[in-house]
Amino acid sequence: MFKLLKDKLKSFFGKSETKEKKTESVKKKSVKEKKTKKKEKNVKEIRKIESLEAEVSNEEIESEIKEEQIEKKGFLSKIVSKFTNTKITKEQVEQIFEELEIVLLESNVALEVVDKIKSNLIEDLIGQEAKSKDIKNKIIESIKKAISDVLIDSPDLIKEIKDKEGTYTILFFGINGTGKTTTIAKIANLLKKNNISCVLAAADTFRAAAIEQLEIHANNLKIPIIKSQYSTDPTSVAFDAKVYSEKNKIKCLLIDTAGRMYTKDNLIKQMEKLIRVIKPDKKIFIGESTAGNDIIDQIKTFNEALGIDGIILSKSDIDEKGGTALSVSYITSKPIYFLGIGQKYEDLKQFNKKEILESLGLD
Ligand code: GDP
Repeated sequence: MFKLLKDKLKSFFGKSETKEKKTESVKKKSVKEKKTKKKEKNVKEIRKIESLEAEVSNEEIESEIKEEQIEKKGFLSKIVSKFTNTKITKEQVEQIFEELEIVLLESNVALEVVDKIKSNLIEDLIGQEAKSKDIKNKIIESIKKAISDVLIDSPDLIKEIKDKEGTYTILFFGINGTGKTTTIAKIANLLKKNNISCVLAAADTFRAAAIEQLEIHANNLKIPIIKSQYSTDPTSVAFDAKVYSEKNKIKCLLIDTAGRMYTKDNLIKQMEKLIRVIKPDKKIFIGESTAGNDIIDQIKTFNEALGIDGIILSKSDIDEKGGTALSVSYITSKPIYFLGIGQKYEDLKQFNKKEILESLGLD
């Protein structure tokens, strides 16, 4: 996750390899290139190259190093080196931001979040001593803070479940194919690992395959499942599961609901009824990290129709960009509880702001 964003931020800030390392790598590169050339030429030419090789001066290597250093200095250093005034102006912050904006947008960070980061930077940097020797670090710190400000720390769901007296009920929403069923199974597995008893409710009665799919997971994990026929009223399935949980003192009830967009009136009414009757403790939206800005629209739609409390992002292991995880909480004001990081039951990770900043190379 975050590979693209991390690489781009790195080149924006500029790398700082030691000169020794560079000298070594440039020398190696130079020798390797010549060896390849050797293979391609006949013996006569090899002799020629060898005599030329002897002439490869240290100056040549030095100049190659300098070129690489300029290349790896990064955009930020280039901009800062052009500062001639004493205090940073709004125009200069905008100039710094121009490149950063592209980096963020290319990494799927939503426009609203890009604008928020920009206004944080303007507030933080205008009036700073432009010529001070540590201005570059100050700018980097300010960018880190701006990115950190848009992330929300995730609440401890396991603790919340344990702290509640009686059955804790979680309702899951999400579009088909995004990993909803697998993610519910991952949560069940996590609960088991934490010695929390749980039961699954197959209230996605819209698709026969969804009931079967959830049943396979329940069997694999050896946990009970409450199900009914295809097209049964989902509220009745959820209600049966709630009664079962309370009667059997099950600590957590996980309800799978139909994976459709709730834009049609009858579907909203069906779900509103389920929520009114079951009164879940948590309504969680599961969406694909790889969906980019589409997932933000999906969450907004679900939230307006039914009100959600939190998010789980599946498939973050195959999301190279990472901007969705960065922007979704800020825009929806809902925390990300977990990230799906693979296809196995154990591949679920608690969302941790500090770790995200670390993985971006920002902490
Ligand atoms: P549903 O239709 O939304 O219930 O989706 P499924 O749970 O059936 O998942 C669809 C596909 O996504 C399956 O092949 C899952 O193995 C896969 N999947 C689910 N979560 C993840 C994840 O976090 N990472 C990866 N790489 N694949 C996942």
